[in-house]
Amino acid sequence: MSKTAIVCGAGGFIGGHLVNRLKRDGYWVRGVDLKSNEYGNTNADDFVIGDLRDPRVCESLFDRAIDEVYQLAADMGGAGYIFTGEHDADVMHNSATINLNMVHLSHKHGVKKIFYSSSACMYPEYNQLDPDNPKCSEDSAYPAAPDSEYGWEKLFSERLYLAYQRNYGLQVRVARFHNIFGPAGTWTGGKEKAPAAICRKVAEADNGGTIDIWGDGKQTRSFLYIDECVEGIIRLTQSDFSGPVNIGSDEMVTINGLAEMAMGIAGKPLSINHIEGPQGVRGRNSDNALIKQKLGWAPSMPLEQGMRLTYEWIAAQVEALPRP
Ligand code: NAD
Repeated sequence: MSKTAIVCGAGGFIGGHLVNRLKRDGYWVRGVDLKSNEYGNTNADDFVIGDLRDPRVCESLFDRAIDEVYQLAADMGGAGYIFTGEHDADVMHNSATINLNMVHLSHKHGVKKIFYSSSACMYPEYNQLDPDNPKCSEDSAYPAAPDSEYGWEKLFSERLYLAYQRNYGLQVRVARFHNIFGPAGTWTGGKEKAPAAICRKVAEADNGGTIDIWGDGKQTRSFLYIDECVEGIIRLTQSDFSGPVNIGSDEMVTINGLAEMAMGIAGKPLSINHIEGPQGVRGRNSDNALIKQKLGWAPSMPLEQGMRLTYEWIAAQVEALPRP
């Protein structure tokens, strides 16, 4: 008999890709989300449109034996959504409620393993002030000082899952994702992240034109291509290591460097206009020592390869928009 899985947040970017991967691996998959996947990822055997803040919706997902739960649903977005402060109450309330419901019902219904997607945003700001030397090893999480309420909720929920493991023996797997990007992700509308936003701006710009970048562009980040993120989720869930563990790339780049990479891929030399905007921490990079040690694997795809695939997809979306 094939294994059964629930993917929470299946209408979203990573959840959509994860559903496809689990289907390829032979699972029976039930997706659940407030919305279906905009980019046509409808491979789930069953797709429930429902609100995971509602415990009755969560309860209804367990009308058959479920082996694994992948909890990726969250109220989230890029810097323009989580760092402005305007959405703090919703971000904390909505995501915490989903996690409280899903961990409890997974325990109640005897789920064998539950995967939870935390974020690098839970790392303390004081270790990420120097763009050249950010510290994001898993053991640097405490004393806790995330720079956003989104990060605080992730930290709370990590602890919630691990407490269920300690007290009730529920098998949990916790990953801290570092900036995942790729095709079929949010690329417009205000919730998109830097790689998608930059690809869109480059695709929309006229040759010789200008693109806006928030801040001085000297802040550093690393970005992980979606396929490697999904590979990390599967490998972690199948392993006997609970985490928390980073799933990210350790190829660090400045935001200016990322913009120049996108221009190079597009073959469009453009100028950069630095404007005021939310930026988050000065520097962040994945530390992959622990994942290598525990799983004998770490992401390795060069950033440019992922950016090329992403640019092609976003340029096609821009191209398909009706012309004014
Ligand atoms: P996403 O926004 O594309 O997907 C999240 C999905 O959750 C959305 O489709 C949304 O509709 C759904 N959702 C939100 N509230 C819900 C509710 N009440 N009931 C049902 N569904 C609800 O985000 P993503 O990029 O796919 O991220 C997936 C997970 O990974 C999130 O938990 C996110 O915090 C985490 N994460 C992502 C990144 C990244 O770079 N993408 C980085 C760190 C952590």
